[in-house]
Amino acid sequence: MKPFAYVRATTLQEATAAHAGLPGSRYLAGGTNLVDLMKRGVERPGTLVDLARLPLNGIEELPGGTLRIGGTARNSDVAAHPLVRTRHPALTQALLAGASGQLRNVATTGGNLLQRTRCPYFQDVSTACNKRDPGSGCAARDAVHRDHAVLGHSEHCIATHPSDMAVALAALDADVELHGEQGTRTVPAAAFHRLPGERPEQDTVIRHGEIVTAVLLPAAAPGAVSLYRKARERASYAFALASVAAVLDLGPDGRLVRRVALAFGGLAHRPWRATTAEARLTGAEPTAEAVREAVEAELAQARPLRDNAYKIALARNLACDALATLARRAQDGQPRTP
Ligand SMILES: Cc1cc2nc3c(=O)[nH]c(=O)nc-3n(C[C@H](O)[C@H](O)[C@H](O)COP(=O)(O)OP(=O)(O)OC[C@H]3O[C@@H](n4cnc5c(N)ncnc54)[C@H](O)[C@@H]3O)c2cc1C
Ligand code: SF4
Repeated sequence: MKPFAYVRATTLQEATAAHAGLPGSRYLAGGTNLVDLMKRGVERPGTLVDLARLPLNGIEELPGGTLRIGGTARNSDVAAHPLVRTRHPALTQALLAGASGQLRNVATTGGNLLQRTRCPYFQDVSTACNKRDPGSGCAARDAVHRDHAVLGHSEHCIATHPSDMAVALAALDADVELHGEQGTRTVPAAAFHRLPGERPEQDTVIRHGEIVTAVLLPAAAPGAVSLYRKARERASYAFALASVAAVLDLGPDGRLVRRVALAFGGLAHRPWRATTAEARLTGAEPTAEAVREAVEAELAQARPLRDNAYKIALARNLACDALATLARRAQDGQPRTP
């Protein structure tokens, strides 16, 4: 591993100033992704600015019911928080579907959003990869790519984004709060990650030196139900082949869809908010036929590669099952807890 300098920041100002003032800086949170990539030579920072001492690990309710989850809050603390569990079970389920208990005790909110792709060619410095080394090519396209994207990929990159949490946040209409030398701004979680286009090296819309200070989760509508489902190679400790986060509100009569939010994971370079399916279902009765037709309309945009067309059927079945489950729960008035 290349030698690097280390700065332990105690305030936001200290962290951003150190990042701006020292060459090749990276923020360090739990280190579960960054340190792995440093060991492989994919990341070669000159300085690590450690965020662990910043007062950003709280989870609090704001007036109006929004939950503010600090950027360095541990994944296990977020998953276990009573207000997250009861109001936003999709987020608890997504977090618990990720990594392992030990990793979740260390991994943080900001680090989870900013973890890099698990594309094996990105992690192997001996292969061509436009994300790691812009302009070098994409080794995955003609090699093993059964785990890669079916939606929104480009000729430059076919990688998927690996975070389970990010998929739930996209469906829950969360915002990501960012702090940089130019001040604080918020970005919708669904727009935080990018499609690869011609610049796959840029995973998100974060600006150089910005810190994820919080995630803001708006209050859930009374009666709205949510869940997260993930298909993977093993029962635990595996990234999503496809996943879905869904939120359903059937309104007071429990019959017609007042609001639905659906996001897919494992299919694209970012969590994929299924706006076509959502538009078709809003105002409709969520029958099995209506749900299937809406989900199929969404997935008609997919462009499968040689080895991964299976993901389309997998995602369709996950989404149909998730929405049928939520419709039953909303109609039965079941509590929201996972
Ligand atoms: C074996 C294994 C299995 C895993 N399985 C899953 C899985 O199934 N699902 C899943 O979602 N994840 C999985 N993960 C990934 C894991 O969730 C991430 O490694 C973790 O969430 C990263 O968080 P961290 O705090 O350790 O980030 P770090 O490794 O410290 O940082 C990651 C990146 O984020 C940047 N960063 C961190 N915090 C901030 C901040 N607040 N502001 C700005 N930049 C920041 C860092 O500079 C770095 O670029 C797995 C990881 C491993 C090792
Ligand atoms: S899919 Fe993307 S991350 Fe993977 S090798 Fe190609 S360019 Fe690199």
